[in-house]
Amino acid sequence: MSQELGSSPPGKTSDVGGIPPTLSVLLRAFVQSREAILITNASNRIVAINPAFTEMTGYGIDEILGEDPKILSSGHADPAFFGAMWQSLTQEGFWQGEIWDKRKDGSTYPKWLSISVIRNEAGVAQNYVANFNDISSSKEAADRLAHLAYHDPLTQLPNRLSFEAQLTQSLRICQREGRRLALMLIDLDNFKNINDTLGHHIGDELLKKVALRLRESIRASDLVARLGGDEFVVVLPEIDGPMVAARVANKIQQNMADSYLVDGYSLYATPSIGISLFPTDGQDTGTLLRNADSAMYHAKSAGRNNHQFYASRMNEAAGERLRLESALRLAVAAISPTGSEFSLHFQPQINAGTGQVIGLEALLRWNSPTFGAVSPLRFIGIAEETGLIQPLGDWVIWETCRYTRELKSHGFENIRVAINISAQQLRHENLLMLVRGALACYNLDPSDIELEVTESTAMQNTEVTLDILDQLANMGIVLAIDDFGTGYSSLAYLKHLPIKHLKIDRSFVTDIETDANDAAICAATIALGHNLGLKLVAEGVETEQQREFLCRLGCDVLQGYLFSKPLPFDEIIPYLAQVQQSFNAQPCATRPRSNGPAPDC
Ligand code: C2E
Ligand code: CA
Ligand code: CA
Repeated sequence: MSQELGSSPPGKTSDVGGIPPTLSVLLRAFVQSREAILITNASNRIVAINPAFTEMTGYGIDEILGEDPKILSSGHADPAFFGAMWQSLTQEGFWQGEIWDKRKDGSTYPKWLSISVIRNEAGVAQNYVANFNDISSSKEAADRLAHLAYHDPLTQLPNRLSFEAQLTQSLRICQREGRRLALMLIDLDNFKNINDTLGHHIGDELLKKVALRLRESIRASDLVARLGGDEFVVVLPEIDGPMVAARVANKIQQNMADSYLVDGYSLYATPSIGISLFPTDGQDTGTLLRNADSAMYHAKSAGRNNHQFYASRMNEAAGERLRLESALRLAVAAISPTGSEFSLHFQPQINAGTGQVIGLEALLRWNSPTFGAVSPLRFIGIAEETGLIQPLGDWVIWETCRYTRELKSHGFENIRVAINISAQQLRHENLLMLVRGALACYNLDPSDIELEVTESTAMQNTEVTLDILDQLANMGIVLAIDDFGTGYSSLAYLKHLPIKHLKIDRSFVTDIETDANDAAICAATIALGHNLGLKLVAEGVETEQQREFLCRLGCDVLQGYLFSKPLPFDEIIPYLAQVQQSFNAQPCATRPRSNGPAPDC
């Protein structure tokens, strides 16, 4: 038979329906409550506790009866806290709040405590009833949440939110007390390269180690936070002057100069540091950050691994960058069949053994009416950031094919022309169609051109890259890895790339005779490349000594000012004709020279 809601189980007395609960029910509630309950008399001596109290505190009734509840105190709260509690009990008959107490075994814990005063008919306090819960676990969870909200989960450093709150607070103190403060924005050099070529897992491990070194470089009272990516910030809240900030920046640079060992790789992550000072460079978080950022970019363009103080002229550089970007945008939009502000120059590539010119590298030039000749080192980066590299790169491919056809019409049939392809172009779905179209339009064979992709581009997004490179190679196009040695290629991956040429980066060639490391890198790269069946190209060959050295190491192809600077097309034809004339087949003994053309850069 079903039992009606609210009715008593058979044989039990009813406590509902306005009938006052019996004493035994109240007693059961006291004994079985999950909350700890403690009752004291008018003189605040303990007269009763329940089993939950014993469970939470470890004290049994015989140990605590007649005691002052003070014996539970952890000693964390100051006398004023208890003063306020008693004031509330006397005036309002009630108090509640969080308090840290001590268990019998000496361990402390947070509890949520409510105390009520029980008065007689005359209104005189007879008893105090305190009930409480151990809130350690919910407090831990709340603390964990707070930690998550204010810390970067990877490095455990304070995050941007926490940094901004702390900086605002420090600025207030500095303002009030007339103190000075330094803010340092730190960006890691080449981190993107490591992340792209070795993967996020390695990048993350590196960031953790960097965070540790940063923490070790500053005092406990200074703040270091991670703003995101490879960007960190340090706040020195009390400095006597800029010299202190410079000293700390030097220390950070020193501590970060050594390599980091991550997963068997020896990696470098030097810092570029921009510094802004309160109050001279800004009075608020936003301005100080913006100016430290300008200074940091300055440090990057000053060769990385250094620190720069903000100076107001730096913002002019940022303005200049914007003006350059809009001029570039206009110039790209104005490209037409009848001409443009862009042109191509060509730099010869020489067979190291015979001295013959076997190829040309097409290099883009921008002659802006406002800015004059702008270095590609400057505008290619902007074109990549803004997506303009897409139309600009397409133009380079068409234009190179056009000139390659013209070379043939001048009788130079066997000169392959190399085109630089940036990461975005490589991953754009129309690259294959575009290359096919341009070759067909100028009646060229795929073997008439070569595509150069940098080492770091080749290592990004490896599966997709491999697929595209395979398709290009299957068409019969020669592929080269550019700037080799600046990334972190794995040999295993390189083996799978359908490449024919490795171009040793100029930075290794420059000091080949004076720097034993660079010489060793060149020698090892040449040996390794030959092992993989690749042809080795050395870039930036400027001196006879470098040429001899590279020849001795067995390098196949040489390119550099020693032979010729990049030349406009109408100068390349006479150059090629002259080399052909003076060509002498003695290996490595002769070299073609340019006819003293005007310097290109
Ligand atoms: P890169 O592909 O490594 O090109 C070689 C650079 O080294 C060229 O600089 C060239 O002028 C310079 N160079 C050649 N020989 C010597 C030498 O003996 N000594 C010295 N000091 N420098 C030498 P450039 O023309 O200023 O180009 C710089 C970079 O701009 C190129 O580096 C390439 O990464 C990029 N770039 C140029 N044209 C294009 C292009 O059409 N598309 C893309 N995506 N990038 C391009
Ligand atoms: Ca190149
Ligand atoms: Ca290069």
